[in-house]
Amino acid sequence: MLTNRINSLSESITIAITTLAGELKAQGKDILSFSAGEPDFGTPQVIKDAAIKAINEDFTKYTAVDGIPELKIAIANKLKRDNDLVYTPNQIIVNNGAKHSLFNLFSATIDKGDEVIIPAPYWVTYPELVKYCGGSVIEIQTHDYSAFKITPQQLKDALSPKTKMLVLTTPSNPTGSVYSKEELIAIGKVLEGTDVIVASDEMYEKLIYEGTFTSAAEVSNDMYKRTVTINGLSKSVAMTGWRFGYMAAHNTELIKATKKLQSQSTSNINSITQKAAIPGLNGAADADIEMMRVEFKARRDEAVKLFNAVDGLSVLKPDGAFYLFVNISKVSKDSLNFSKDLLAQKEVAVVPGVAFGSEGYFRFSFATDIKSIRTGIKRIEDFVKELKS
Ligand code: PMP
Ligand code: GLU
Repeated sequence: MLTNRINSLSESITIAITTLAGELKAQGKDILSFSAGEPDFGTPQVIKDAAIKAINEDFTKYTAVDGIPELKIAIANKLKRDNDLVYTPNQIIVNNGAKHSLFNLFSATIDKGDEVIIPAPYWVTYPELVKYCGGSVIEIQTHDYSAFKITPQQLKDALSPKTKMLVLTTPSNPTGSVYSKEELIAIGKVLEGTDVIVASDEMYEKLIYEGTFTSAAEVSNDMYKRTVTINGLSKSVAMTGWRFGYMAAHNTELIKATKKLQSQSTSNINSITQKAAIPGLNGAADADIEMMRVEFKARRDEAVKLFNAVDGLSVLKPDGAFYLFVNISKVSKDSLNFSKDLLAQKEVAVVPGVAFGSEGYFRFSFATDIKSIRTGIKRIEDFVKELKS
């Protein structure tokens, strides 16, 4: 009954593990879950107020497929203010979360046989969507000793006449690595003279703990033209359930093509979310964003210190996002079994590195309270001790 295309698609492992942890908790188990890629904070009040106002004003009908004009202007202003990027509204489309932006982008650009370069460890969704669209995934493996970043030479080696796209995630899920301006310039230089699209997923842009954030499109005119910037508010203003994301591209034909697909699939995103997103973009929620960032930074510092004190484990201090990618290669060769046993024996949920294309690690989300972080790492320490004995 089902197509080969759908049969070859895997479920999102990050969502699956988070759901399983929730189910075990509901059964009364004392589960500590560090699997979720979502902030534990509430959505800022200014955003909730804008949504309530939209409901009360009956802003509850279909809207333009690609987003209401005032929202697209708010996105354009945000891109100018934060990233020094100039886009007009016809170079922007609003989607049902950044995951939907990626789905639309890949659907519009990837044909059978096209190659898409994805640095590993990668966020679980990219390779699945590429394969779903008929493309081939070309992985570039990175490691903790190179800060989980690709080098210009690795990119050069991965390029072929079939390369259609390079996916960049900065800050990264699952490692928290952030590309510097110089590193992005060097990547851009390698791509000069090619038609390769850069899909730059900048979802964690606001969660930077060291240095500054640079958007891929801002490093050169050549990069501006080839880059599709994907962003949203799920992580920065704790709006995961509201479903808001967007993409911006120099190429208006590309945006038009994704709008056509959206017009035949989901239509506009939720009208209320569109009104609510505006204060998330125009600076009205900046104090809330900063409060969350400061809290995440304190958790990161504590969690990194505790993990690095565990004999057999090591972790880099990430510059952004809210994940640690913990190296377990001294104690286990199989991250899936490690994570399964950890959940069964110590009731701690993490995501195995293999789900992100990199064996020898697990992902630990510190988007949870500090008390749970301390107790969770203690349980992991006990688990590792027992493994070694
Ligand atoms: N990109 C990255 C790197 C992510 O971690 C996520 C996680 N949800 C998304 C995109 C999608 O976000 P959403 O669909 O909630 O906007
Ligand atoms: N992106 C988040 C994560 O990596 C949410 C889950 C998902 O969308 O796959 O955990």
